[in-house]
Amino acid sequence: MTFTITSRKSWGAKPWTSTPDTVPLSERREFFIHYDGAHPVSRTGPSVPKAIERAHLAQKWSGIGYNFVIDQAGTVFEGRGWGLQSAHCPGHNRSGIGVQIAVGGNQKPSDAALRAARALYDEACRRTGRTLAKKGHKDGIATLCPGGTLYAWVKAGMPAPAGSSKPKPPAPTPASKIVALNAAVRPGVRHAQVRDLQQLLIKTGHGPIKGAVTDLYGPETQRAVARWHDRNPAYRTGQHDPKIGPRGFVALQKQAGRR
Ligand SMILES: [Zn+2]
Repeated sequence: MTFTITSRKSWGAKPWTSTPDTVPLSERREFFIHYDGAHPVSRTGPSVPKAIERAHLAQKWSGIGYNFVIDQAGTVFEGRGWGLQSAHCPGHNRSGIGVQIAVGGNQKPSDAALRAARALYDEACRRTGRTLAKKGHKDGIATLCPGGTLYAWVKAGMPAPAGSSKPKPPAPTPASKIVALNAAVRPGVRHAQVRDLQQLLIKTGHGPIKGAVTDLYGPETQRAVARWHDRNPAYRTGQHDPKIGPRGFVALQKQAGRR
């Protein structure tokens, strides 16, 4: 499956208090799964990595300690990323890529989260050029983490649940009809139709768009359009295309349930 990583900048990470060491991909041997702890996590979106960041900063770490965090919507948030030393398991912070799936207690991880975690594992293997060992936190140190459900999933070989990786299409809204893209709508301008564009992108799972809903086709909107194009390459004119076209705008409306 294809997936995108929400960058630190996109989710609003604070600057590192001291820059973590870099780790070459050639040192990576292991892929560790973590959970959030004893309590279920109901939130999704940027508030998930932000809460972890707050906790890790309070421990006097330089910032969020995991390489990546995955929420229950299946969004992958960048923490230390591919190239920085992590802070997730003593003795394994250079060899291991640490990934937290944001569930706690007996909470059942969503299929979307597990699919994203598996896709991230496959991408890690592709980047390092080797089959990374699949581990739960408790394989590195005595801990309950990643909890019974996730640990069983790791031991089962991290199978990706069947089904579509795309967000479920929302229920159609009978009142709204497909409209044509106004020729004036393009990156950088202000136009009333940008509001519609932002709402459609958010509805189809391509948010967040910070500051939405507004008339401004600014960098946040452009990033959301680029995310949509990454998933709908038939409508783009280049890599990470930030400009919606007339055909793409119709396709986006159909995905949002308009007829
Ligand atoms: Zn852990």
